[in-house]
Amino acid sequence: MNSPSSSFLVFVTFNSSCAADFRFSVGASGEMAARGAKTAGRRFGKISTDVIRINVAGTRYYVVANAAAELGMAASSDDGATDCNVYWIDGPVPLERYLELRSYQKINHFPGMGEISRKDALARNIQRMRKENRREYNFYPGTWVLPADHGVLSQHTARLRRRRQRKTFIVKPHHGSMGNGIYLTQSPDAILPSEKAIVQEYLDKPFLLDGFKCDLRIYVLVTSCKPLRILVFKDGLVRLSTERYSPPSDFNLEQMCMHLTNYSINRHSASFDTDERDDRGSKRTLSSFMVWLHKTGHNVVELWAKIHDIIVKTLILAYPHILHSCTVSRHGHLPNGKSQFFEILGFDVLLDHTLQPWVLEVNRSPSFGTDADLDLHIKTAVIRDALKLANISLSDKLTEEACQRQASRGDLNLTPATPTPDNTTSLLNKLMLQQRKQAGELQRRSD
Ligand code: ADP
Repeated sequence: MNSPSSSFLVFVTFNSSCAADFRFSVGASGEMAARGAKTAGRRFGKISTDVIRINVAGTRYYVVANAAAELGMAASSDDGATDCNVYWIDGPVPLERYLELRSYQKINHFPGMGEISRKDALARNIQRMRKENRREYNFYPGTWVLPADHGVLSQHTARLRRRRQRKTFIVKPHHGSMGNGIYLTQSPDAILPSEKAIVQEYLDKPFLLDGFKCDLRIYVLVTSCKPLRILVFKDGLVRLSTERYSPPSDFNLEQMCMHLTNYSINRHSASFDTDERDDRGSKRTLSSFMVWLHKTGHNVVELWAKIHDIIVKTLILAYPHILHSCTVSRHGHLPNGKSQFFEILGFDVLLDHTLQPWVLEVNRSPSFGTDADLDLHIKTAVIRDALKLANISLSDKLTEEACQRQASRGDLNLTPATPTPDNTTSLLNKLMLQQRKQAGELQRRSD
């Protein structure tokens, strides 16, 4: 078994330069320009071998081909093109797809990441970690996974009733997204025992922006699992609800445009504010929000540190599963140390009224839809930087073939890793140690 002690955690932030040198025209034509890039990619029927080729047949987002074109890559939307250097796929990737990859090819997902991106799996993994590290995992609201936790939830509700406490819960389908199927309730005992959903404590005192509830979409890039390399994009999105917030009551539980911040829900509201300025409207840039927070006297450095911390701790939950799945699907790591996988995750983070960040969910196929210029700028930059940081090079093909020849001669010692709570805990301990050292260092410097 591979011990995580041989791995180390690299945590860096990557800078967007946020499309400063944006190559395609934006505005109403933004999506068209991107579509043009995809068509341009298609024209490369016979692409010369000195261009990196990205297969975009598995994505519906034109912005991927757009960003790749900025890096001089050739996009192909031919589903049957099996010799591309990179594959970009929107949805979850079946294990066979990983197995089909040739050793020099990369793909924009990690096997095993479902352990944090499925709502029920994330809740279970957090519950497991909380048993030993309650304090470290208090950034996720109390959650019950139905139907299995129905009994425990009933006991909890009974306790609340005895104490005459009235709490609100939010119910989300296990595999739901974009706010579909979500509802609020103050009577969780009325939920059918057979319902396949998670029931979560509703955070009823959110941080309000101009009186509206909001959440943060943070883009996180993972470029390797051994070592676990996590990079956080400096910009992102702030999504606001479209009805002014008031705490949950009998009269407003069904007001989804007040309680949910999903763009997919709020865009249909007549109150959706399409102001395109970064710091106005119902969708804003994360950077403008951070500037505003700073100007209004909030500690942005501390907030970022907390956000980084909860991102790393969430990824630690997936780590043993990713390591195991990578090993199973690719028979271990090849000696040039490069990862065949990379992944952009969309973390949804809610701030409460004390500016504490809470992880609500992790999307492994965050939307790269570009309804507004702001989306186009940020999402193109995220994808472009991810493609750069994924370290794709034409020489990979030659290197990996040489590695394979070595491996087949038995020169490489490739042993599978097994996911155990042990290696998760060990990585968490490592993180704590790292943080203590950093804190000590800061203390020494200030002395
Ligand atoms: P989906 O995947 O369907 O978007 P989310 O878990 O992201 O589901 O929830 C949708 C929205 O509901 C969030 O963006 C947030 O505004 C709100 N929300 C979700 N969970 C909570 C919670 N525990 N407390 C308060 N608001 C929540």
